[in-house]
Amino acid sequence: MQRLLLLAIVCLGLSPLSAATSRPNILFIFSDDHALQAIGAYGSRINQTPNIDRLAHEGALFANSFCANSICGPSRACILTGKHSHRNGFLRNGNRFDGAQPTFPKQLRHAGYQTVMLGKWHLETNPTGFDYWEVLPDQGNYYNPDFIQMDGSRKRYDGYCTDLITEKALHWLQAERDPDKPFLLMCQHKAPHRNWAPAPRHFGLFHDLPVPEPDTLFDDYAGRSALLKENEMSIDRHFYWAHDMKFHGDNLFPDFFLSGIPNAEYRRMNEAQRRDWDAHYEPLNQRFIDQMRAGQLSRADVVRWKYQRYLQDYLGCIAAVDDGVGQLLDYLDTSGLATNTVVIYSSDQGFYLGEHGWYDKRWMFEESLKMPFLIRWPGVIAPGKRSHALIQNIDYAPTFLEMAGVEIPRDIQGRSLVPLLRRPDQPPADWRDAIYYAYYENAAVHNVPIHDGVRTDRYKLLFFPRTGEWQLFDLVTDPQELRSRHADPAYAGILNGLQKRYRDLRQFYEVNPAVIPATRGDETWWRERYQAVDERARNDADLLFIGDSITQGWESTGQQVWNNYYHRRNALNLGFSGDRTEHVIWRLTQGNLANGKAKVAVVMIGTNNTGHRMQDPRETAAGIQRILNLLQERSPNTKILLLGIFPRAEQPFDEARLNNVAINQVIRRFADEQRVFFRDLSDVFLNPDGTLPKTVMPDSLHLSPEGYQRWAEAIEPTLKELGI
Ligand code: CA
Repeated sequence: MQRLLLLAIVCLGLSPLSAATSRPNILFIFSDDHALQAIGAYGSRINQTPNIDRLAHEGALFANSFCANSICGPSRACILTGKHSHRNGFLRNGNRFDGAQPTFPKQLRHAGYQTVMLGKWHLETNPTGFDYWEVLPDQGNYYNPDFIQMDGSRKRYDGYCTDLITEKALHWLQAERDPDKPFLLMCQHKAPHRNWAPAPRHFGLFHDLPVPEPDTLFDDYAGRSALLKENEMSIDRHFYWAHDMKFHGDNLFPDFFLSGIPNAEYRRMNEAQRRDWDAHYEPLNQRFIDQMRAGQLSRADVVRWKYQRYLQDYLGCIAAVDDGVGQLLDYLDTSGLATNTVVIYSSDQGFYLGEHGWYDKRWMFEESLKMPFLIRWPGVIAPGKRSHALIQNIDYAPTFLEMAGVEIPRDIQGRSLVPLLRRPDQPPADWRDAIYYAYYENAAVHNVPIHDGVRTDRYKLLFFPRTGEWQLFDLVTDPQELRSRHADPAYAGILNGLQKRYRDLRQFYEVNPAVIPATRGDETWWRERYQAVDERARNDADLLFIGDSITQGWESTGQQVWNNYYHRRNALNLGFSGDRTEHVIWRLTQGNLANGKAKVAVVMIGTNNTGHRMQDPRETAAGIQRILNLLQERSPNTKILLLGIFPRAEQPFDEARLNNVAINQVIRRFADEQRVFFRDLSDVFLNPDGTLPKTVMPDSLHLSPEGYQRWAEAIEPTLKELGI
């Protein structure tokens, strides 16, 4: 068998992987928010990273490397599992990673690797799958950081976080490693994450020359969705006086800086560190304050000043990361480990270094969508290679598994990069033509809306569910993404093709938005209603109505009928105009459940999943099923009266009407007539010929007072049977 394999390798002309590099060690050096624009090998105009660049000179650089969800925790979860966020369950920061699910460190450990994780973890639950770990709590600190120990205790170390993590990695390699086993060492820095506190040795590193500004520092967001203007991550408006900009004392210029977040790093410093810090920042701060008081700086000047402060600190943090990479590479050389150790440098996502006037990440625009990916694998990757293949962080897990000779589980969504590593300049013919991206953390810090999309080698398509908008960018003619072409007739065919690719990729990755919990908390009225309803839900309601605008309408058009039927029955209206199944799932997950003591819940939801987006009926039905399951989990004694989605549109063969009919066909099967009861009220509203009378639904979607009367009468016998 082995001879056959060897013969096959020789015949195919491949490098004899199994001989020279069997079970290589894997050193995964990972940082946080390190943008490609700040890496020498990627063509940085603003700094140098000689040690990180070594990996590009001695291995391969991937120019089209992307994350699947541009934010810290989710990116890490994608890497560990090889799956998109909706499959690994970590959609947004603040979620808790389910450490019981399969991850590549677990699989490597099972295969005999020694596995170690040091530094920033940020997944809320403790690491699983490691022989040894020591991680920062949450974001961690730059100065004198605490580390969570394997027994759950915390230990504080004097020093600078990046240096400490490098030292821990070196110590493990030198003193703790089992030389008889291959290893996986994940060395994960906090740097250069906000709030960008450099080591004292790097203060002033970028002071001699101003850091060059990006072309779009003063972007006006014209030609793109108005949602871009709602950002809360602009250099102009969203830097904090102390936290980001390193001033002491009261905010002297509240028109230019935000107040309220202190500089936690300064508070942690010892006397010597504070002395160094103040010696560096205070004269610069005082000069700025003097210039402001003298009225010498325009608003644009202040933006430029903030940009310099931000970038000098950010790049200073990267300098320590680069030092650490150098120390680790040197150790691999001197110890002889280098020849059989794969070294990767990557970061959880990219970052805006002033492009579009921004800091931070999240958006699917190039600067934060891209991840650095540099890899050295002696004997396999020829030095100095550059690949333009589209790769993604979900590919790392299967890559590491293949390197270690471990079978790749079939449910992993990424693809092993090993064939690309063998021939970086010539991807396999069937390599992917597009990546899928999805961001879920709306109604949170920085106010970036939910969006998803696809990127090919030339085009990018984004979709914003809140506004139903598409955005289309041509990266060849518009590399800075300043003008969406979605409405440009010249791009109609391209838009069409990309939309098909988008639908197909969502199907391929099994993305069903109807089941992915989504808040609309970025819409003020929705947030306020959610809070008000949540407050009312604290009093034990007996009867819940769960749904969208048709249910919410009990409070307006249907109020008289509601008063007659439900006012004295302790009922609560959980209808939110425009909600789809995913929003109800969010509400039920987060609250809104009346302490789980309601006797009956009337559920009617899904017509907005139809709406203009015409979601596949099976997907919407899965969303409704998830709602029923949530009610069962959270409120096991509540009986559910599941109503078929009401008919819509005047004519029976309207597509949206038919979509609702198709959903109802599936969901009627969810009824067990024990806990879940199904009633289809179509006949109550429709004429005998199937047309929908205006007297019942004037706009062919929402009910009239007569419509509410018919609804109440129709469900009354069932409610009585259920004890209401
Ligand atoms: Ca990050």
